Amino acid sequence: MTGLQDAVRGGPAAPNVAPSKVALSIVLPVYNEKDNLQPLQTSLTRVLDAISRAYEILYVDDGSSDGTFAALSRIAQDDARVKVLRLRRNFGQTAALAAGIDHARGDVVITLDADLQNDPEDIPNLLAKMDEGYDVVSGWRKDRQDPWLTRKLPSSLANKLIAWVTGVHINDYGCTLKAYRREVFQDVRIYGEMHRLLPAYLAWGGASVTEIPVRHHPRIHGKSKYGLSRTFKVLLDLMTIKFLSGYSTKPIYVFGTAGAASVALGVMFGVYVLYQKFFEDVFAHRNPFLLLAVFLSLVGVQLILMGLLAEVSVRTYYESQGKTVYTIRQKLNLD
Ligand code: UDP
Ligand code: MG
Repeated sequence: MTGLQDAVRGGPAAPNVAPSKVALSIVLPVYNEKDNLQPLQTSLTRVLDAISRAYEILYVDDGSSDGTFAALSRIAQDDARVKVLRLRRNFGQTAALAAGIDHARGDVVITLDADLQNDPEDIPNLLAKMDEGYDVVSGWRKDRQDPWLTRKLPSSLANKLIAWVTGVHINDYGCTLKAYRREVFQDVRIYGEMHRLLPAYLAWGGASVTEIPVRHHPRIHGKSKYGLSRTFKVLLDLMTIKFLSGYSTKPIYVFGTAGAASVALGVMFGVYVLYQKFFEDVFAHRNPFLLLAVFLSLVGVQLILMGLLAEVSVRTYYESQGKTVYTIRQKLNLD
């Protein structure tokens, strides 16, 4: 995270800070989207001005090299509600979103892509759903306008897997267009491609999550920054958050269980080898089960030791940063 924090600290302060209290923050990650920005801004302001809520639009320039920053500067000059955060280099969409969310001041944060594939017209629908009391409203690109083989197919498989593993059943984890109550981000750190897993992660933390269908348009200007390889990263992230959420305070339960099972199997095979030696005249040095017995016992012991090491790192992690193993929703008569 230090890289990201450095980058954010190094970025310029928002140029025109509006003094009024902000109800709504729109956060957009932007990487080489020069030609999309002006039409996007026009459409955003048209939609947002029709909603009577004080808002800010936060563009995070994720190290673009195509004149995106110049275009954003012009937009920010014309409108004090536009904030621009410029990262030092290309950190990736998740980091850009994290930076934007960290700097958002609205009670509700809405994220969307800056490539005109998400439609600002959906914002009022998301807000209406939020008003029903949800903490997170996720967009579902029901009619997604992307190539089938490289994007829609892997994405639909990944979505099913994520829903199954996390137990949080929404159809489109990958859609950036989502609305969040800002308070749900307290103590949430996102890494890798993890913004895709946010609904599940936040739901585990106690947030109420729902989804609504949203529009989706084909990309007109610029190129998609992703291909198939992203799906694989998302899967690795999924494994990480599943582990972190379920066992981050007790890794020994995972390693210890696997280790104990392995040792038990090893002992079983060992006994079988002895049985065969004494009762079936199979010499131990000719018995392949001997190898299994030794191998499983060793692996088991290793796993248990790894679990103990993980326990030590977990304690260091929480205690060195003063992190608690819980998060608080509300306090009454307390600071
Ligand atoms: N993006 C970003 N940093 C990156 C890659 C992408 O900020 O390293 C932004 C990009 O400008 C766009 C959004 O993230 O606003 C989604 O990217 P893209 O449209 O390429 O993804 P796709 O819609 O094809 O999944
Ligand atoms: Mg896109």
